[in-house]
Order: sequence, then structure tokens, then C-alpha cells
Amino acid sequence: MIEQPVDPLQKASRCSTCRRNPPIYFRKYSGERLCAKCFRENITERVRKTISKYDLLRPDDRIMVAVSGGKDSLSLLRILHRIERDFPRAELYAVTVDEGVAGYREECLRIVRDFSSQLDIPFLSISFKELFGFTLEDAVECGAAEKIGIHPCTVCGVLRRKALVKAARKIGATVIATAHTLDDVVQTYLLNLLKGEGNIKPVGIRREGGSAIPRIAPFRLIPQREVALYAYLEKIPFQVKTCPYTHTSMRDKIREFLNWYSARYPESLYAFLSNFERMLNALLKTMSEGKCEICGEPSSRRMCRACEIELAIKRELGLDLEEPKGLERESDIRGEE
Ligand code: SF4
Ligand code: ZN
Ligand code: ZN
Repeated sequence: MIEQPVDPLQKASRCSTCRRNPPIYFRKYSGERLCAKCFRENITERVRKTISKYDLLRPDDRIMVAVSGGKDSLSLLRILHRIERDFPRAELYAVTVDEGVAGYREECLRIVRDFSSQLDIPFLSISFKELFGFTLEDAVECGAAEKIGIHPCTVCGVLRRKALVKAARKIGATVIATAHTLDDVVQTYLLNLLKGEGNIKPVGIRREGGSAIPRIAPFRLIPQREVALYAYLEKIPFQVKTCPYTHTSMRDKIREFLNWYSARYPESLYAFLSNFERMLNALLKTMSEGKCEICGEPSSRRMCRACEIELAIKRELGLDLEEPKGLERESDIRGEE
């Protein structure tokens, strides 16, 4: 029998997985062509594999998902909700931090509240104002952030991290899940290198030991554009409006460069991640970490960066320098289940 040669054009017009449907996505770095259904299943499967590869979750974890209201974090919530169904002892919470940027956060809060409620996931929102006594806008508009020489996004990122830890302690979460994608992880490493940060830690990999609540990034091996496509195909409602400070950050410039570079060299982000983390792991074995004298969270310095920024801004705003009391009372976290 003479074998019919396969028409390369016809082959390219079928999904590499089901070999039936027309593909909607060509994955340059692997050569796969995927139809919409297989693509969605593939992303969920890759999150499962990432969780297993890095041992990110335990069957009885109380998982707090940091949800900003953007497509990445809502997609993460949806996927973890699906995966969690196989682990009846695990629990899921959604938490949104309101930094206090007028006209930006209100819509996010509504979207996250509605989305969590559809999935029957408890939703909590916490604000900078409640926790620290000032909003991000207060810190920027009065010139406090500029005076202490830090960018609004640095204030926001560092204090949001602290806010998430406080929320996680309040609800007794054993792990904090964030929606950092492959692009975000590589951007963070590059940013740290360019800023001369001497204490770079692995991003989104579960590290136990000490008093810190581990942070995990189940999307750490998935490129940003694939998460965006997943959100689109799943019809996930997300906020389109961006934060007014977004285009002023150093991260934004690095993002632009990496988008440009990885479009030409599709495997470059994976290559950077694996090489950089190999070096990082070797370095980490020789490093030890102490605790912040103010908040008790892990820090290589006497006062952690979050406490340093919080106190500097309070000083500029003439606020009480006492430790924030935001989450000490039950009513300080709004449970909107
Ligand atoms: Fe915060 Fe900057 Fe993101 Fe705005 S763009 S939410 S200020 S980190
Ligand atoms: Zn298919
Ligand atoms: Zn501290």
C-alpha cells in the first residue's frame, strides 16, 4: 500500500491535540497548534503540572488567592477552583487589596465580588486606609513618596504584600497564591538585578520554614499572553481600566523590552528562568534570614522594607507612628460572601 503524503497545509489546519478542530493558537516555543477547547484544557493541565513540579500545594491547604480584578488573577481563581474540587479538605479564599486609587479600584472590587460569589468562594477586601491609615493617593499626592525617593508602584507593591500577609494571618491561610505569570517572574528577577538587590529570593515557589506564609505562583511557567487568551476564551469578566500609575514604572519598561525580545526569541523567558533559578538555588544555600524588629516578618534587615516605607510615609503625613491596627478586629476585614 502506498502511503498518502500528509498535506502540510491540512496538517497545520488541525489541532495538534485532538487532531479534529481548527487551531486558534500557535505555540511558537513548542510548535503546537491548539483549538480553543484543547487550549483551555491545556492551561489547566499545565497549572496542575506546575503545582506538582514545585510541590506548591498540600491537600489540606487553606489557600488565599490574591485577586486584583485583572484577567490573570480571575483566571487563577477559576483554575484553582477547578483543581481544588479534587481536594475536599482544601479551602479557597479570594482577597483584594484596595490601595486607594480613586476611580480605579471600585470596579475591580465589584467584579471580584461577583465572580467569587458565582464560584461560591468567600471574598474579603482590605484597604491601605484601614491597615496603614493612608491611601496610596495620599502618599503620592502630598509628595511623601517622592520625598523619600520611591516610586508609587514600589510603595504600592511593598505595602500590598504586607497587607496580603496580614489578611492571610487573619483568615489562617497556609499559603498565598498570586497570579504572577512567566513574564512577571522574569521581570521581577530582572528588576531586582537592575536595582542591585542583594537578597533575591525565588518568586512563587513554596518555601517552608520560619514564620512566613509561603507564596506560590501557579502561573509561573505560563506566558502572559496565554493567560490572557485563556481569560478571553473562558469569557472571564475583567477590568479593562488600568491604574493611572502603571505606565510610569520601571517594570513597565522591562515588560516592553521582554515583550519585544520574547516575540523574536520565544524560548528566551524559559531559558532565563531555568538558568537564573539554578544559580539562585546555589546562592540560597549560603544565605540566612532574620526577622523584622517591627512586624516580625522575615527580613534580612532589622526593619523590613514594608515597615520602612510605611513609617517614612506616616512621618511625612504627620500620622501616628504606632503599628497599624487595621486587621485586629473581625470587622476590619469585610467578608462579603
Ligand atoms: Fe499599584 Fe503601580 Fe499596579 Fe497601580 S500600577 S496598582 S500603583 S503597582
Ligand atoms: Zn483540539
Ligand atoms: Zn516589618
